[in-house]
Amino acid sequence: MNYLKKIIQGFWNLSVGMTITMRYFFKKPVTVIYPKERIPMKRFKGPIAFVVDEKSSDHLCIACNACIKTCPSRCMSLEIGKSAADGKRVLTDFKVNYMLCSLCSLCIEVCPTDALKHDDPNYDFVSLTQKELVMDLLEPFEKKGTPLTKIPLAPATPKPVATPTGAGGSST
Ligand code: SF4
Ligand code: SF4
Repeated sequence: MNYLKKIIQGFWNLSVGMTITMRYFFKKPVTVIYPKERIPMKRFKGPIAFVVDEKSSDHLCIACNACIKTCPSRCMSLEIGKSAADGKRVLTDFKVNYMLCSLCSLCIEVCPTDALKHDDPNYDFVSLTQKELVMDLLEPFEKKGTPLTKIPLAPATPKPVATPTGAGGSST
């Protein structure tokens, strides 16, 4: 009796399995043959880039450092110079290390001038070198020669060199 019960149970399990198999056999597959086939990734944001101002075709960064301080991955850096004309801060370098960026968008949210955005939703961006994944956000503007990238800079003030105790400076 127990033996007959096991046989019936086996057939039942087999028929349930085959029913599920046949149901999915006629359904459209959810997978794609990557990389020949690609699907749009609606929720992928893309790497951080500078917004291009419609009026000036320039970037909107004022080098305030807010994004740098906020970034939880510490993957942003900028450098500034001084304008030779009025001594104002001039952005001279802005880089984002895409290898470390978590695409959290916090830098975009804190930016007071809305200078940052997610760009290029290319979700399979790869590189053979780490250097290519450190993105130079100013580069496209420098290539175009936008006004903000052409501001003449004042010569950098040399940093004071620490003098060892007891050296130099004769009093007589
Ligand atoms: S998206 Fe997040 S992790 Fe990436 S640069 Fe901005 S603040 Fe940093
Ligand atoms: S928060 Fe905006 S304006 Fe300030 S340094 Fe970052 S990108 Fe530039």
